[in-house]
Amino acid sequence: LNGPPRGDRTRIMVVANQKGGVGKTTSTVNLAAGLAQLGQRVLVIDLDPQGNASTALNVDHHRGTPSTYDILVEGAALEDVITDCPDLPNLKVVPATIDLAGAEIELVSVVARESRLQRAIEAHPLVGTAAEVGEDRFDFVIVDCPPSLGLLTLNALVAGQEMVIPIQAEYYALEGLGQLLETVEMVRKHLNQRLRVSTILVTMYDGRTNLAANVASEVREHFRDIVLDSMIPRSVRVSEAPSYGQTVMTYDPASPGALAYLAAAREIATRGSKA
Ligand code: ADP
Ligand code: MG
Repeated sequence: LNGPPRGDRTRIMVVANQKGGVGKTTSTVNLAAGLAQLGQRVLVIDLDPQGNASTALNVDHHRGTPSTYDILVEGAALEDVITDCPDLPNLKVVPATIDLAGAEIELVSVVARESRLQRAIEAHPLVGTAAEVGEDRFDFVIVDCPPSLGLLTLNALVAGQEMVIPIQAEYYALEGLGQLLETVEMVRKHLNQRLRVSTILVTMYDGRTNLAANVASEVREHFRDIVLDSMIPRSVRVSEAPSYGQTVMTYDPASPGALAYLAAAREIATRGSKA
């Protein structure tokens, strides 16, 4: 696929929303796959103990597999836990295992517990500028967060430069966003000045209902330019892909959901290289 040019540095994106079921994981894996198909080099970091992103990307994540747990709790290096995504050559993955469920508690007594992920990402030899790192650099590191604002998500926000918020085009869509944005402000003030909410993605959009259209226009009124033009339609193909260990991008590339994620990935890559 013909894609936008690569940027001049690694972009670290965090996909977060403390609400469950809004499309964080689905968006993480499909945007990552879309970017990879467009020629970008992508690393997905699964930070949800459920490991749904690992499942969708078809990487092993049984208990004991080298994973984000080792990074956060054991202080392991990113190189030692990265694995290949079997279906997409430009895509690498750090899986999450159920061990991560205990990490919030185990981290309480760890020094600099909120910056463990940041240190691991920044120490990786393929993260940085084109000048420093060269052609093999990652263009994107994309972190899939759990549905909470605990220490795991905090690690992602401290590590990130850009935050992507998926918003489900449903009633109550904007509920909880105030708290999320307050958390971002707190992190900006005290822990990570470079963090900004760069992207809002409307997910599970059902164009046949007024409700979805109303939610989408409310989101655009509120967030303006950072809302991607491409909205992700509600589609069975999107939701069944993970049960085949696939993203919808390989499972059914011509389906509306896959095309929407590809368009969204293109927007993200294009916007970045303009900035
Ligand atoms: P989160 O990670 O925010 O909890 P998920 O990405 O796991 O949310 O999505 C929640 C559920 O909705 C999953 O079962 C997923 O397959 C389904 N889903 C997500 N996006 C779509 C879509 N565009 N169309 C249909 N189902 C979707
Ligand atoms: Mg999820």
